[in-house]
Amino acid sequence: MFSNKFIQRFLKACQIVVFTGDNLCTESKDAMIQGNNKQLRELFTNDQLKHNDRDFWKNVKRIRMDLEAAKPNLGHYALVDLENRFEDFTLITTAIDGLHQKAGNNKLIELRGNIRRNLCLKCGKKFYQLRENDPLIPVCPACGGKARPDVLLNDESIDQNLLKQAQQAAAEAELFIAVCLKDMHKYHHALPLIAKANGAYLVELNTERSALTENVDEFVSENPAKLLTGLALLLEKV
Ligand SMILES: [Zn+2]
Repeated sequence: MFSNKFIQRFLKACQIVVFTGDNLCTESKDAMIQGNNKQLRELFTNDQLKHNDRDFWKNVKRIRMDLEAAKPNLGHYALVDLENRFEDFTLITTAIDGLHQKAGNNKLIELRGNIRRNLCLKCGKKFYQLRENDPLIPVCPACGGKARPDVLLNDESIDQNLLKQAQQAAAEAELFIAVCLKDMHKYHHALPLIAKANGAYLVELNTERSALTENVDEFVSENPAKLLTGLALLLEKV
């Protein structure tokens, strides 16, 4: 479990950042759009959205329908407890499944967006149309404009504004907890290192060692949902 040093830091911290990767190490839909399968990867590109929009949206809808049935796990709910208890808490994620938002986290930076959500290309409104009988190709309810999924597609570069927000939160963190990070973009991978370079205590919760492990102050290998639940329980005892 956790060291005493970590528990002391955790209980005293004001500024905490938790950074999660794929769906808290459980089965992830991210693989469907960013996996190793070239054919699948090529379906989720801006090029497809522009030139083959019906097939593009059919695939998005299929994933969305699967995700409607998916429920946040205990780890997701523990992170909502942490957000409610700490004065300055930021959750950063590379997961696109929207489960943190579904669980109830509000102070959330979704670095690669959220595949459940749409973004209007005309007025910028973000909206959801998740019912089975909603039109296949969504139209903005505010202005009637064309929309796209509010998610980073495979031929797009990362969102610099979101990255800056995440870098700032990392630089200010006293405690940085990295959960289930693997195979990430170098800019995302740098976030825990930015936190550590600025004096944060860096902890990794993961089922196995990762490229980050050799740089952390503490590595805890156990089911991350269980560990996060344990952290939320520590706060109840204070
Ligand atoms: Zn609009």
